[in-house]
Amino acid sequence: MNLNCIKCGLATSNEVRLCPGCGADTELELEIAMFLDPAVKSLRAWLLIAGGLLIVFSGLNYEHNGILTFYQVLLGGSGAVFVASSLFVKRAPLPVASVASGLFLTIWGYQLYELGALALFPGVSLLLKVFSAVILGNAVRAALKARATRARVRDALPKATATINS
Ligand SMILES: [Zn+2]
Repeated sequence: MNLNCIKCGLATSNEVRLCPGCGADTELELEIAMFLDPAVKSLRAWLLIAGGLLIVFSGLNYEHNGILTFYQVLLGGSGAVFVASSLFVKRAPLPVASVASGLFLTIWGYQLYELGALALFPGVSLLLKVFSAVILGNAVRAALKARATRARVRDALPKATATINS
Protein backbone atom coordinates (compact mmCIF):
# COMPACT_ATOMS: atom_id res chain seq x y z
CA MET A 1 0.00 0.00 0.00
CA ASN A 2 1.24 3.43 -0.86
CA LEU A 3 0.68 6.54 1.20
CA ASN A 4 1.51 10.14 0.58
CA CYS A 5 3.74 11.82 3.14
CA ILE A 6 1.47 14.09 5.14
CA LYS A 7 4.17 16.77 5.24
CA CYS A 8 5.78 16.93 1.79
CA GLY A 9 3.29 14.85 -0.25
CA LEU A 10 5.87 12.33 -1.46
CA ALA A 11 4.49 8.86 -2.13
CA THR A 12 5.97 6.47 0.44
CA SER A 13 5.39 2.85 1.26
CA ASN A 14 3.79 2.44 4.66
CA GLU A 15 6.58 0.11 5.75
CA VAL A 16 9.00 3.01 6.12
CA ARG A 17 8.34 5.14 9.11
CA LEU A 18 10.58 8.06 8.12
CA CYS A 19 9.70 9.81 4.85
CA PRO A 20 12.65 9.51 2.39
CA GLY A 21 11.78 12.96 1.02
CA CYS A 22 11.64 15.16 4.09
CA GLY A 23 12.57 12.88 6.98
CA ALA A 24 9.21 13.34 8.68
CA ASP A 25 8.07 10.64 11.07
CA THR A 26 4.97 9.56 9.14
CA GLU A 27 3.25 7.86 12.08
CA LEU A 28 3.86 10.85 14.33
CA GLU A 29 2.74 13.33 11.66
CA LEU A 30 -0.48 11.37 11.18
CA GLU A 31 -1.12 11.49 14.92
CA ILE A 32 -0.48 15.25 14.94
CA ALA A 33 -2.66 15.83 11.87
CA MET A 34 -5.61 14.25 13.70
CA PHE A 35 -5.89 17.21 16.06
CA LEU A 36 -3.99 19.90 14.14
CA ASP A 37 -5.83 19.68 10.80
CA PRO A 38 -9.32 20.55 12.10
CA ALA A 39 -7.90 23.49 14.09
CA VAL A 40 -5.95 24.70 11.04
CA LYS A 41 -9.03 24.47 8.80
CA SER A 42 -11.21 26.42 11.25
CA LEU A 43 -8.48 29.03 11.69
CA ARG A 44 -8.07 29.45 7.91
CA ALA A 45 -11.83 29.94 7.44
CA TRP A 46 -11.92 32.39 10.34
CA LEU A 47 -8.96 34.40 8.99
CA LEU A 48 -10.60 34.77 5.57
CA ILE A 49 -14.06 35.68 6.88
CA ALA A 50 -12.96 37.91 9.77
CA GLY A 51 -10.25 39.50 7.59
CA GLY A 52 -12.69 40.23 4.77
CA LEU A 53 -15.29 41.67 7.15
CA LEU A 54 -12.74 43.90 8.90
CA ILE A 55 -11.49 45.32 5.58
CA VAL A 56 -15.06 46.04 4.42
CA PHE A 57 -16.06 47.51 7.79
CA SER A 58 -12.95 49.68 7.93
CA GLY A 59 -13.61 50.94 4.38
CA LEU A 60 -17.27 51.73 5.08
CA ASN A 61 -16.32 53.49 8.30
CA TYR A 62 -13.81 55.64 6.42
CA GLU A 63 -16.34 56.48 3.72
CA HIS A 64 -18.94 57.40 6.35
CA ASN A 65 -16.64 59.61 8.44
CA GLY A 66 -14.45 61.05 5.71
CA ILE A 67 -11.38 61.04 7.98
CA LEU A 68 -8.85 58.30 8.54
CA THR A 69 -8.75 57.22 12.20
CA PHE A 70 -6.39 54.95 14.12
CA TYR A 71 -9.28 52.55 14.61
CA GLN A 72 -9.90 52.20 10.85
CA VAL A 73 -6.20 51.58 10.23
CA LEU A 74 -6.14 48.99 13.02
CA LEU A 75 -9.18 47.18 11.63
CA GLY A 76 -8.18 47.39 7.96
CA GLY A 77 -4.54 46.48 8.70
CA SER A 78 -5.53 43.52 10.88
CA GLY A 79 -7.98 42.39 8.18
CA ALA A 80 -5.23 42.46 5.56
CA VAL A 81 -2.87 40.52 7.87
CA PHE A 82 -5.60 37.94 8.55
CA VAL A 83 -6.33 37.36 4.85
CA ALA A 84 -2.62 37.21 3.90
CA SER A 85 -1.67 34.89 6.78
CA SER A 86 -4.44 32.44 5.83
CA LEU A 87 -1.99 31.30 3.11
CA PHE A 88 0.56 30.21 5.73
CA VAL A 89 -1.66 28.51 8.33
CA LYS A 90 -0.74 25.00 7.26
CA ARG A 91 2.99 25.72 7.03
CA ALA A 92 3.31 27.81 10.19
CA PRO A 93 0.25 27.27 12.41
CA LEU A 94 1.81 28.57 15.63
CA PRO A 95 3.12 31.93 14.33
CA VAL A 96 -0.12 32.58 12.40
CA ALA A 97 -2.36 31.65 15.34
CA SER A 98 -0.24 33.76 17.72
CA VAL A 99 -0.22 36.85 15.49
CA ALA A 100 -3.98 36.54 14.82
CA SER A 101 -4.70 36.17 18.54
CA GLY A 102 -2.50 39.17 19.33
CA LEU A 103 -4.28 41.38 16.78
CA PHE A 104 -7.69 40.11 17.91
CA LEU A 105 -6.89 41.00 21.53
CA THR A 106 -5.53 44.40 20.45
CA ILE A 107 -8.79 45.21 18.62
CA TRP A 108 -10.88 44.03 21.55
CA GLY A 109 -8.66 45.92 24.00
CA TYR A 110 -9.00 49.10 21.95
CA GLN A 111 -12.80 48.76 21.88
CA LEU A 112 -12.83 48.28 25.65
CA TYR A 113 -10.65 51.37 26.04
CA GLU A 114 -12.83 53.48 23.70
CA LEU A 115 -16.28 52.21 24.62
CA GLY A 116 -15.79 50.95 28.16
CA ALA A 117 -18.55 48.65 29.41
CA LEU A 118 -20.46 49.18 26.14
CA ALA A 119 -17.90 46.92 24.42
CA LEU A 120 -19.13 44.08 26.63
CA PHE A 121 -22.82 44.67 25.80
CA PRO A 122 -24.39 41.24 25.20
CA GLY A 123 -25.33 40.83 21.55
CA VAL A 124 -24.22 39.54 18.20
CA SER A 125 -20.94 41.43 18.41
CA LEU A 126 -20.00 39.86 21.74
CA LEU A 127 -21.14 36.44 20.56
CA LEU A 128 -18.87 36.72 17.49
CA LYS A 129 -15.97 37.70 19.73
CA VAL A 130 -16.47 34.73 22.02
CA PHE A 131 -16.76 32.47 18.95
CA SER A 132 -13.54 33.99 17.54
CA ALA A 133 -11.73 33.55 20.86
CA VAL A 134 -12.68 29.86 20.91
CA ILE A 135 -11.37 29.28 17.35
CA LEU A 136 -8.14 31.20 17.98
CA GLY A 137 -7.62 29.55 21.36
CA ASN A 138 -8.12 26.10 19.85
CA ALA A 139 -5.65 26.83 17.06
CA VAL A 140 -2.97 28.08 19.47
CA ARG A 141 -3.49 25.07 21.73
CA ALA A 142 -3.34 22.56 18.84
CA ALA A 143 -0.22 24.22 17.38
CA LEU A 144 1.51 24.16 20.79
CA LYS A 145 0.53 20.52 21.26
CA ALA A 146 1.95 19.64 17.81
CA ARG A 147 5.22 21.38 18.68
CA ALA A 148 5.41 19.65 22.06
CA THR A 149 4.65 16.25 20.50
CA ARG A 150 7.43 16.65 17.91
CA ALA A 151 9.88 17.88 20.56
CA ARG A 152 9.07 14.97 22.87
CA VAL A 153 9.83 12.43 20.14
CA ARG A 154 12.94 14.32 19.03
CA ASP A 155 14.28 14.41 22.60
CA ALA A 156 13.43 10.78 23.22
CA LEU A 157 15.37 9.47 20.19
CA PRO A 158 18.97 10.30 21.23
CA LYS A 159 18.29 9.02 24.76
CA ALA A 160 16.99 5.71 23.44
CA THR A 161 20.13 5.34 21.30
CA ALA A 162 22.33 6.22 24.28
CA THR A 163 20.62 3.57 26.42
CA ILE A 164 21.21 0.92 23.77
CA ASN A 165 24.85 1.92 23.40
CA SER A 166 25.69 1.94 27.11
ZN1 LIG B 1 7.86 13.86 3.45
